[in-house]
Amino acid sequence: MNIPYLSLKEVTALHGEEIQQAVAQVTGSGRYLQGEAVHLFEQHYAAYIGTTHCVGVANGLDALTLTLRAYMEMGKLAEGDEVLVPANTFIATVLAITENRLKPVFVDVDEYTLNLNTETLVQAITPRTKALMLVHLYGRCTYTPTIRTLCQQHHLLLIEDNAQAHGCLYNTQRTGSLGHAACHSFYPGKNLGALGDGGAVTTNDPELAQMVRTLSNYGFTEKYVAPLRGRNSRLDEIQAAVLDVKLHHLDSENRRRIAIARTYYRNINNPAITLPQMMDAGNNVYHIFPIFTPHRDELQQHLLAHGIQTLIHYPIPPHKQACYREWNHLTLSVTERLAHQELSLPLNPTMTDDEVAYIVETLNSKLSTLNSKS
Ligand SMILES: *Cc1c(COP(=O)(O)O)cnc(C)c1O
Repeated sequence: MNIPYLSLKEVTALHGEEIQQAVAQVTGSGRYLQGEAVHLFEQHYAAYIGTTHCVGVANGLDALTLTLRAYMEMGKLAEGDEVLVPANTFIATVLAITENRLKPVFVDVDEYTLNLNTETLVQAITPRTKALMLVHLYGRCTYTPTIRTLCQQHHLLLIEDNAQAHGCLYNTQRTGSLGHAACHSFYPGKNLGALGDGGAVTTNDPELAQMVRTLSNYGFTEKYVAPLRGRNSRLDEIQAAVLDVKLHHLDSENRRRIAIARTYYRNINNPAITLPQMMDAGNNVYHIFPIFTPHRDELQQHLLAHGIQTLIHYPIPPHKQACYREWNHLTLSVTERLAHQELSLPLNPTMTDDEVAYIVETLNSKLSTLNSKS
């Protein structure tokens, strides 16, 4: 068998005709920016997430960067303020902070939940702490009532990075509606992915929504009137039309992801492999299915030799990147160990039961050699 990590061609083909029609409609309309398709998608996505506002932007990094910038323009953040961020995240979460001359405070993660825990979080809070970036990494909901309480007590802005968790639930609420603002990426490989770049900010705060919109459109409050130095960061009509089609299928695709994940949990029994703590149904939309083993590279080769492609999310944590030299000295041991041991199995709605079974079988068959070396 030959199983790619993710075939975007197959992902698109799941709803190929609907997508073609949506694209053709925009093509024929002659309106490619700031038109009806974006307007409708913003409304539908806000309703889906459960917020009053949604602002489409060009990509996920811009959603994060413009949200922080908007809070600075609104006087809620100032240069040098500290922003808590899980050390185990994709670099974009951190880039948004440093781009705004805010100070990232890297918080190591919990080895079981793979995300922030209250203890380390509390220790990281200082009088200069003004915001918390809550990253629902791998599609796992990270929000807890304790996090809410901490943010209230310390007057922190709670900003969700929901790039990997479209459709994820906390009880009956969606991630992306739990904090002051949430940032979404529609990069093609995400659970809700466009045919190119796209992103959005969701919030219940009309002032923030308006500020992000202004900043994403040259700083114009009305045409050719610019009280702020903005930029051009817009979601385009074709992407919005595609996303609108795919939004209708998101819940059923996430259900398929959850079913595949359950099969992995039930059947992977290689003692050299650690699976992340399982979550309640709905609290994890399995954007990524990470497994952990000290024999990561060997296991990856074994899978590849059997036609199974895997990826690593992520091999170098942000604080160890060359672009962040000033933080390279930090030791955040859980995050660093995860970076050495993580392997992402294929998991997406195009996969067949046979493919999933074959991956499990191939993983379990590596048992003896992995153990003899540990
Ligand atoms: C993908 C991703 C982003 C960035 O989104 P882009 O659209 O690629 O800019 C930000 N944060 C996380 C956690 C992501 O996975």
